[in-house]
Amino acid sequence: MLAQAEVDLYEVLEIHRGASKDEVRKAYRKAALASHPDKVPESEREEAEIKFKSVQEAYDILYDEEKREIYDTHGMSAFNGSGEPGMGAAPDLDDLLAQMFGMGGMGGMPGGAGPRPNRPRRSANEEQDYEVSLEDLYKGKTVKFASTKNIICGLCKGKGGKEKATAKKCSTCDGQGYKEVLTRMGQFLTQSTAPCTVCNGQGSFFSPKDKCKKCKGKKTTEEKKILEIWIPRGAREGEKIVLEGEADQVPDQEPGDIVFKVVEEEHPVFTRAGSDLSATIDITLAESLSGFSRVVIKHLDGRGIELKHPQTPGGILSPGQVLKIPGEGMPIKRSDNRGDLYLVVNVKFPDANWKPTPAMLEKLKELLPKPDTPIVSDTVDEVDYDPKAKLEDFGAHDGHGGSAWMDEDDDEEPAQCAAQ
Ligand SMILES: [Zn+2]
Ligand SMILES: [Zn+2]
Repeated sequence: MLAQAEVDLYEVLEIHRGASKDEVRKAYRKAALASHPDKVPESEREEAEIKFKSVQEAYDILYDEEKREIYDTHGMSAFNGSGEPGMGAAPDLDDLLAQMFGMGGMGGMPGGAGPRPNRPRRSANEEQDYEVSLEDLYKGKTVKFASTKNIICGLCKGKGGKEKATAKKCSTCDGQGYKEVLTRMGQFLTQSTAPCTVCNGQGSFFSPKDKCKKCKGKKTTEEKKILEIWIPRGAREGEKIVLEGEADQVPDQEPGDIVFKVVEEEHPVFTRAGSDLSATIDITLAESLSGFSRVVIKHLDGRGIELKHPQTPGGILSPGQVLKIPGEGMPIKRSDNRGDLYLVVNVKFPDANWKPTPAMLEKLKELLPKPDTPIVSDTVDEVDYDPKAKLEDFGAHDGHGGSAWMDEDDDEEPAQCAAQ
């Protein structure tokens, strides 16, 4: 159970206090997704369930304009522990509402994205981003998550009242379903249209005894559902995965779709460009010169990629050299083809732990190619140097020099940036 008064519902959903209904819903779906059963290891399950419940409760209250208004003004204590998920307004809440707005009296809360006078024939699509790892985009993945949506009440079939009852015209809004409201903003009064809170934007309502018992006159009830989406192999950033007709149901409207937009997570090893992949491999100086036969990188599906070097006797690998491996890139959708894998060679030079004897160095000097012909000059100065200098410092002492260098860097060395 959620601790009373201690939890900030806005914090639970990680939204600001002025968040719109749409933002509340999006934050809720995101939070519900994060605590969905498949994503949590066994040891954290209990904690996740508690988190999921508080997310649910925060949504139940903040998504409902009236409950949210009460929460904003009275805090959690107004709900007396009766904010049961998915149960709609509890009786004490109705009393509170009557007190606050005076049933049949003055109504109209400013703001909020409630129903409009002219309703579309289809309820709105719900779009949200969905982050997918490169591994999952490579292999394809099924994701299940818990979702809550409004469905047409099964008891009254969306009427809102008992079978033989007729709705009364709302006198507060004169049957319009919306009202002109004046809002004070500093010294100004602004006029805007807001859904009528007495009839919930419907223009009419059933008297308490005629209200449908199940939906309490709301025409819809909340349903928890496990939704499943399939992320196809090779899916790309921005691609949309559509769950048709899974958005909230609204009486007399076709339900809209839930649409997930694929967002590719950054990968620590691989960089993707379309269907190609690139990565940097580390080899030692000795390997670059004398060859090797080993796994140089683990692919996105866990396979080790083995290279034999040299391919022809005497070949060496230089720093920054690019090796293209055909057919080892990302899968290409609706085909068995794959893009290519580009491996950029990073030659690791020996570090301070390498302690060669003078004799070893002498031997190396003998074995390796000799220096180019010496530079001949009339005067020669022998100078000291700092071996740990950084190129970023180049020109940095001068006011404009530093940024000039950065620009140059961007323009002239794109290969170096891409290789990182
Ligand atoms: Zn009903
Ligand atoms: Zn009304």
